[in-house]
Amino acid sequence: DARVAGIAASIRVIPDFPKPGIMFQDITTLLLDPNAFRDTIDLFVERYKDQGITVVAGVEARGFIFGPPIALAIGAKFVPLRKPKKLPGEVISEEYSLEYGTDKIEMHVGAVEASDRALVVDDLIATGGTLCAAVKLLERVGAKVVECACVIELPELKGRDKLGDRPVFVLVKAD
Ligand code: IMP
Repeated sequence: DARVAGIAASIRVIPDFPKPGIMFQDITTLLLDPNAFRDTIDLFVERYKDQGITVVAGVEARGFIFGPPIALAIGAKFVPLRKPKKLPGEVISEEYSLEYGTDKIEMHVGAVEASDRALVVDDLIATGGTLCAAVKLLERVGAKVVECACVIELPELKGRDKLGDRPVFVLVKAD
């Protein structure tokens, strides 16, 4: 799709952030370009509008930027998957490993039901640990995860392997 080149060009790469050696993919410059932002949302909406998706689950924090416009356009509810101790109601949580240590994401009990068909949205898949934890939260309550959608993939890190047979769709592969 011709729109993908414009989206890729709008993403800024910042070397050595947050640590030396990391090439940080910065989507804030995509957000500064209304055409690129609109094309990003449109491409996802075109893909997911007729798939019977009932919930879009966005991963904190940048899944909260891309998830809600997709959810509104396809007529699905939006559910935020949050860092620990942010959600006020009863939660279920899923731990995942980082390069050093572990982290957790949480989801409100009752937000997603066994009958739901889910799309998980984040800005970027690196090792796949975050998306994998997100998928597990949804599957624990019996929902069907139709696909995971990200703007950017770092293919070298083979994050897809962690997701097993759950499909991952990305717009831009970074090198
Ligand atoms: P993973 O769990 O290793 O796949 O890392 C993905 C998570 O880390 C996502 O929530 C991303 O927002 C974040 N992340 C990792 N690398 C980058 C980057 O270069 N730019 C923006 N976010 C990143």
